[in-house]
Amino acid sequence: MSPPQPKILRVDNDCLFCRIVAGEIPATVVHETDTTLAFRDIDPKAPVHVLVIPKAHHTDVVALATADPAGSADLLAAAAAVAEAEGLLTHGFRLLFNTGGYAGQEVFHVHAHVLGGQPLGPMLVPR
Ligand code: 5GP
Ligand code: ZN
Repeated sequence: MSPPQPKILRVDNDCLFCRIVAGEIPATVVHETDTTLAFRDIDPKAPVHVLVIPKAHHTDVVALATADPAGSADLLAAAAAVAEAEGLLTHGFRLLFNTGGYAGQEVFHVHAHVLGGQPLGPMLVPR
């Protein structure tokens, strides 16, 4: 019987969030599983603003959902765990994936924004 193979992680060495996963760039980690990492946003837009990412590199939520349905489920479960740990279940919170240019995605390693801790206002700035 062949020995168990080590898991090979998809990595993009030029990707900021892959470098956070690798420990090359510091972050305030609030939750970690085998497949996910959650850390505070460096420029928070709400009293609680946590980014939840798969450790594997996928550019956006569409790429993740296509390539790794189990990883997508892990990401949602991690986001829910973060929301609970941050005390957001009582009053609610926002879970957001900016995807592509119109949405203003800046970091092309899929990340869920967990936002809460105060009323969050309208989903979009009124036009
Ligand atoms: P996006 O606009 O791509 O949905 O969100 C990217 C998020 O990453 C932004 O909210 C931004 O503040 C955050 N961010 C950018 N660089 C860093 C960093 O080096 N560390 C952390 N913790 N967050 C970052
Ligand atoms: Zn990455």
